[in-house]
Amino acid sequence: AGGEGESTVDRALTAALRRIEENEDELGRLDAVAADGDHGLGMTRGMRAAVAAARDRDGPAEQLLAAGTAFADAAGGASGALYGVLLAETGAGLRGEITAATLADAVDGAVRAFTALGKAEPGDKTMLDAIEPFRATLRTHTGSDIADAWRKAAQAATVAAQETADLVPGKGRAARLAERSKGHADPGATSFALLVTAVGDVLGG
Ligand code: ADP
Ligand code: MG
Ligand code: MG
Repeated sequence: AGGEGESTVDRALTAALRRIEENEDELGRLDAVAADGDHGLGMTRGMRAAVAAARDRDGPAEQLLAAGTAFADAAGGASGALYGVLLAETGAGLRGEITAATLADAVDGAVRAFTALGKAEPGDKTMLDAIEPFRATLRTHTGSDIADAWRKAAQAATVAAQETADLVPGKGRAARLAERSKGHADPGATSFALLVTAVGDVLGG
C-alpha cells in the first residue's frame, strides 16, 4: 500500500497472482477446449496489473477499486471486465471495520453488479457457478471470523467449479461449441476457485 508496508489486500492479491501463474497453462488448456484458449494469459496479465495498482493505494476499499480497474484494462476479454467489476465493487462496498458480515454485504453487492453486466444465469457454465456458492456460503457464516467464513466459501467455490464439468455452456464464447466442453470444468469458474482459495490461505495467517 501507498506509504506503508504490505497490507492484507497486498498479500491476498500477491498470493492470488502466484496461484494463477502456477495454473496459467491449465487455465489456457481449459479455455481452448471450447473457446479461444486465452484465459490463463488474460488472468496473469490482469492479476499482475491488479497487484501493482493496489500497491499505490491505501486502505482495502481504495486498493480493491484500483485493482479492479487495472485488472479490467490489462486482462481484456469477457472475464477481464467481469473480474474487474467483481474486485472494484467489492472495494466500493467496504466501509468501516471489516467483519465477516460487512464483507458478505460487499460481496453481495459485487455479485449483483457482476450479474447485471454478464447476464449469465446459474447453470450457464460460467464463473457465476463458482461465484454464487461462494457468495451464499459467506452469507451463511457471518457469525464466524473472516478467515473461517472465507475458507468455507472458498471450499464451496472449489467444489462448484469442479461440478461445472457436468454443465453445458449457455453464455460466453464457449456456448458456440458447447458440446465440446462436456466433461471439462469452466475456465472462469476454475480461476475463481483458485483465487479465493489462495486468498483464504493468506487470511488463515
Ligand atoms: P474471452 O471469452 O473473452 O476469451 P476469457 O477466456 O478470459 O475471456 O474468459 C472466459 C470465461 O469468462 C468463461 O470461462 C466464463 O467463466 C466467463 N464468462 C464469459 N462470459 C460470461 C458472462 N456473460 N457471464 C459470466 N461469466 C462469463
Ligand atoms: Mg478466452
Ligand atoms: Mg478471448
